[in-house]
Amino acid sequence: MHELSIAYSVVEIASESARQAGARRVNAVYLRLGALCGVARGALEFSYEIAAAGTLLEGSTLVIRELPARVYCPACQREGDLESVQHFLCPHCGAVTGDLRQGREMDVEAIEVDLPGAEPGTERREEPEREHGDAGTGDSQGNPEQER
Ligand SMILES: [Zn+2]
Repeated sequence: MHELSIAYSVVEIASESARQAGARRVNAVYLRLGALCGVARGALEFSYEIAAAGTLLEGSTLVIRELPARVYCPACQREGDLESVQHFLCPHCGAVTGDLRQGREMDVEAIEVDLPGAEPGTERREEPEREHGDAGTGDSQGNPEQER
């Protein structure tokens, strides 16, 4: 399932821009997805949550904008959206054309972030809380190497 590796790279790109912007959190990622890019939308959305876990993007929304496959028709000398991605036919005159102008996109268009101190109403707690790891609280009760 290559959507997972795509999701990881989307998360990486978005975290990088978020860090550069000094953001503490990413709320949403806007992704352009061409009709012919070969990515299954559902699988990508699912993978995104996995990839976002533990990053600045955790809990953020992936907003996908699907782009239709668009071809240029030399006969009409204009572009048009394919009616079916199975048939590379000009939607205006029906001529066969393989001159694809749009449809293979898969890129991060924008991200929506929380900047520190921007909105007083939004959550500002960003300290990574230790959820597991209360080791070190109670003093030596028994042997440290708990075998059971
Ligand atoms: Zn045409």
